[in-house]
Amino acid sequence: MTLRQRLQQRLAAQRAADLWRTPPLVTSPTGTHIQLNGRQVINFAANDYLGLTEDPDIRAAVCADDQAGFGSGAAHLVSGHHLHHHLLEDELADWLGVERVLLFSTGYMANLAVQQALAQRGDTLIHDKLNHASLLDGARLSEAVLKRYPHVDMKALARRLAAAEGQAIIVTDGVFSMDGDLAPLPEIMRLKAAHSAWLVVDEAHAFGVVGQSGRGTFEHFGLTADENVVRVGTLGKAFGVFGAFVAGTTEVIEALVNFARPWIYTTALPPANALAARVALKKVRTADEARAHLRRLIDRFRREAAGLGLTLMASATPIQPVLLGEAARALAWSRRLFERGLHVPAIRPPTVPQGQARLRITFSARHTEADLDHLLEALEACCRAEP
Ligand SMILES: *Cc1c(COP(=O)(O)O)cnc(C)c1O
Repeated sequence: MTLRQRLQQRLAAQRAADLWRTPPLVTSPTGTHIQLNGRQVINFAANDYLGLTEDPDIRAAVCADDQAGFGSGAAHLVSGHHLHHHLLEDELADWLGVERVLLFSTGYMANLAVQQALAQRGDTLIHDKLNHASLLDGARLSEAVLKRYPHVDMKALARRLAAAEGQAIIVTDGVFSMDGDLAPLPEIMRLKAAHSAWLVVDEAHAFGVVGQSGRGTFEHFGLTADENVVRVGTLGKAFGVFGAFVAGTTEVIEALVNFARPWIYTTALPPANALAARVALKKVRTADEARAHLRRLIDRFRREAAGLGLTLMASATPIQPVLLGEAARALAWSRRLFERGLHVPAIRPPTVPQGQARLRITFSARHTEADLDHLLEALEACCRAEP
């Protein structure tokens, strides 16, 4: 069989299994009300938790600046490290109360970099099984051994730690991207200390939204990230722009600068993007009202969706999955919602385990109570449409 025939066969199998993937086309400004595949819909799919993708102040700041262009021209170590990158790193470090922050082009790359640069051959990376794909790929890029434990199973984590060779590094999402639940950080921190392990927490869905002031899962649990904790944040979710960062001690950041291939061998973010993120950080710092509104939307959704008999997950975050089981069922619900003017994607294997296909609803602080009314009415119609 030629490679071409093999690809045709794999693509046909993908389609036959209801796993076909194709990006829907947006033909309007981003936000909670968008035009998608030619139809006006309420968007319950973005990770734009604070509604900052459509923020006019961010756009205006970029337009008004005559220094921040759209190309950095080179990698950071060459000549791409612009003043706006430098200031953004300092401002993020100040916000989180860490020694240093290092910017990355994407969260995907930051997750590749941390494990590749910090772990060495002979070490053990210990992952929650539901970690984001980029964390798994980061373990593959490093030379350390990868061990996994069942989702949030702390007894299993303790066993992996007891059996670990070399330096043990626990790696977990802070908020799990497809379930919306939180890593049990108090117990993870206790085990980390007991086994002299390190901890990497991916705060992609936490920074900006989780914790009283949006400083993430450590703030939520009233914990302090000590010198053996490394946190990854993204700028493309609650910050509403693009890019990512790693927060940690001076040694961690200098190790990344010197050893992290996904940081060294790539072009720095556009300076204009760094400036946009600086304005976004100011907004995140003062978004208490937006976070309170989000919490009200989430509470009401959970109460009323449970009343419809829907299967929700143990999530108190803006990620609210509705568990449906088979991929075909999730697709049918997603299509029905789309016909009613709502964009709620079906999440299917391999992104989630077999038999756990779901709708993944995400809330934004820009959603109104009326948007939520629409969603609940449409979900009720989906329930009625099934025998
Ligand atoms: C989105 C996401 C990433 C990747 O971040 P990007 O900046 O979009 O590349 C990493 N980890 C988690 C948990 C995510 O949800």
